[in-house]
Amino acid sequence: MVSIKSPREIELMKAPGRIVAQILREMGEMLEPGITTWDIDRFAESRIKDLGAVSAFKGYHGFPACVCISVNEEVVHGIPSKKKKLGEGDIVGLDFGVHVDGWYGDSARTFPIGKVSPEVRKLIEVTEKSLALGIEACRVGSRVFDIGHAVQSCVEAAGFSVVREFVGHGIGRALHEDPQVPNFGSPGKGAVIKEGMVLAIEPMVNMGSHRVAVLDDGWTAVTQDRKWSAHFEHTIAVTVAGPVILTSE
Ligand code: MG
Ligand code: MG
Repeated sequence: MVSIKSPREIELMKAPGRIVAQILREMGEMLEPGITTWDIDRFAESRIKDLGAVSAFKGYHGFPACVCISVNEEVVHGIPSKKKKLGEGDIVGLDFGVHVDGWYGDSARTFPIGKVSPEVRKLIEVTEKSLALGIEACRVGSRVFDIGHAVQSCVEAAGFSVVREFVGHGIGRALHEDPQVPNFGSPGKGAVIKEGMVLAIEPMVNMGSHRVAVLDDGWTAVTQDRKWSAHFEHTIAVTVAGPVILTSE
């Protein structure tokens, strides 16, 4: 069942969206060589409290932290750790969500640490661009696979690949609602996009093969070929005036 949100409910979803955007920006500003992924998560947890929100991730199916932090060949769902230090030239994906009064917001962004290689910079830029194109495709009367088609076309034209195993999703009173929003697909296929749908669109883009594996910790997804991967995500409301990004400040 795909839930449809009223204009008033979409207004309410701006509160968690704004907080997610603010804390993601603040986490981005603290990134530098030598910081651990644990430090980033501790910061996020304290900011969630300051701003009167609740973590969407901590305890979700047993996930132990507030931020999924995925470095280099890690695709998504990396667990913050005191042992994991960021180094010059790394890339780090921060995937972050909160709820406020029972309404959820979810967003992700991949940041370079210092100077990265031109190919890695391109990976980040293409992933962010593919998200923008996916958002553009979120139009009343279009189909869910139009979104994935827009993402996949952009990514594959650049010589990269989209992950199949993890997909975007509806969001609202729960972190994950119907429908699933794949980052691939044929245009004109899938459920019709309606006014009042709220979708989290989240391309995960690999430099090499699209194939992923999950590490023994049961969470961290890595690329099978260990080439690097980037991830961007926004929570989007579908309105007659076009897509509205809720996870912005
Ligand atoms: Mg997310
Ligand atoms: Mg998500």
